[in-house]
Amino acid sequence: MHRFLKRQLKKLGYTDGDLSEEQFQTFLEMCERAYVDADEDRAFLEHTLEVSSKEMQELYAALERKSRTKLAQSEARFRELAQIDPLTGIANRFSLEERLASLIAYSKRNHQKFALLFLDLDHFKYINDTFGHDFGDKLLKEVVKRISPELRSEDIFARLGGDEFVIVFTNVTERDLYKTVEKILMLFREAWKIENHLLHVSTSIGVVFYPKDGISTVELLKHADIAMYTAKNHGRDNFSFFTKELNEKVTREIELEVDMQRALHDGEFELYYQPKVDIKTQKIIGSEALIRWHHKKFGLLLPLDFIPIAENNGFILKLGEWVIKQACCDMEDFNKVSKQNLHVSVNVSTVQIRMQTLYDMIEKYTQSLKPSQFIIEVAEEVLLKDEAMFIAMLSKIRSLGVRISMDNFGINYSSLGQLVKMPIDSLKIDKIFIESISEDENNEKILIKTIIAIAKSLDICVIAEGVEKEYQVHYLEQNGCQYYQGYLFAKPMPKQEYMKLIS
Ligand code: C2E
Ligand code: MG
Repeated sequence: MHRFLKRQLKKLGYTDGDLSEEQFQTFLEMCERAYVDADEDRAFLEHTLEVSSKEMQELYAALERKSRTKLAQSEARFRELAQIDPLTGIANRFSLEERLASLIAYSKRNHQKFALLFLDLDHFKYINDTFGHDFGDKLLKEVVKRISPELRSEDIFARLGGDEFVIVFTNVTERDLYKTVEKILMLFREAWKIENHLLHVSTSIGVVFYPKDGISTVELLKHADIAMYTAKNHGRDNFSFFTKELNEKVTREIELEVDMQRALHDGEFELYYQPKVDIKTQKIIGSEALIRWHHKKFGLLLPLDFIPIAENNGFILKLGEWVIKQACCDMEDFNKVSKQNLHVSVNVSTVQIRMQTLYDMIEKYTQSLKPSQFIIEVAEEVLLKDEAMFIAMLSKIRSLGVRISMDNFGINYSSLGQLVKMPIDSLKIDKIFIESISEDENNEKILIKTIIAIAKSLDICVIAEGVEKEYQVHYLEQNGCQYYQGYLFAKPMPKQEYMKLIS
């Protein structure tokens, strides 16, 4: 029976994956009903009427026709049900794709455009995890209740699954659409009342236009999804239009993501070194290792092009280990050409600090160095989350004798109370503060002065980053900053060049 049903479904254009268990059961019951009806008719004829075999054959043929009609009716009803999302009662993905395909054909013939909005609720997973799935389902129903009255009968409103919705507006200009999207965002800004809880749930929306941003269903949905993610990255409760540049950026990111493993294997990563300098003596005290990627297709890539991707997909753990190992190896070579007891610092992501393996790695690779020659630079954000865990981890690493530096200090406005508890040896003042130092002698830079004063009172040293001008060095020196790093002295450079500089 099931095999027959599957064939029947295939004939109707469905595959197993299109149907929920519930929908499949409905279809099964409908077909069974059609057969049971026909069988009952047949039994009635056989047992209650005395007819000739020829007449019997004719009656059977008639019954066959009747059961086929019933089956066709069941199929038609089923087709109707299979178009609907059982939870919310609006169109489902299958139906959306069907309707989009005919809308595309129609729009192509009539040279018309339409807009497609991809909505994804913000932090829906958190709601489901906190209040349970039934609660989440109620919210989704409410969303549909709130949006539906705002749509025209010719618009398409569908739920793709989870908390993803699609709205298609025909005959709209880009200007009209701005207002409509704003209106949808506004609808979300009113609190949601679910089971006596008042919630604030926003949405992020990606917008595409046919034919400008895509000419097939797959392309339109993919590009709308990309635009939606951009809206999320811009702080959620937001919308973003799809652009060619956006597509190129995302496509490149995807390419880089799949290429990282190979690149590491093929030796495409390199560490550059930027000197750190004593402000008074102008002597080099050490360097910061900054990663570069010589990509076959894209040329020289800077860390911000690929480190965030590596942090997202976990590859940073492997790449971070390579950085530590390489920097320690290079430091051994630096020790061969310089007797100055220089140091090297490496940047580590918070993702790495969470892993116990970071301690093991540092212990292993710093064996041939004086531990104090190795510094890890941690982002200020460690002060803002999971404080106790980070303090424990960093203290353990520091017990090896290596030093810890707080990078880009000041941009996250972390509190002094948090800083005092951190096991650190130095603070790096972020370059945005250094940029703000101007030639004007009276220009008071309270924040820089405060950071230097804090460091002094905690008995840790201060390094200014991004120093490009002589007068910035002058100002920093006058205010008690001991070290600096910046293009004024030298840009980050390959190992061999740095070796020449220190030897
Ligand atoms: P960061 O740790 O704040 O590094 C300093 C950045 O400022 C470097 O950018 C450096 O080239 C740049 N810089 C130095 N002096 C000047 C200056 O005078 N003017 C200007 N405009 N910029 C200056 P880069 O190399 O692009 O690195 C960017 C960020 O990427 C680093 O910021 C660091 O957070 C991260 N990064 C670099 N290498 C690694 C790594 O191996 N692992 C991890 N996790 N992150 C890394
Ligand atoms: Mg750094």
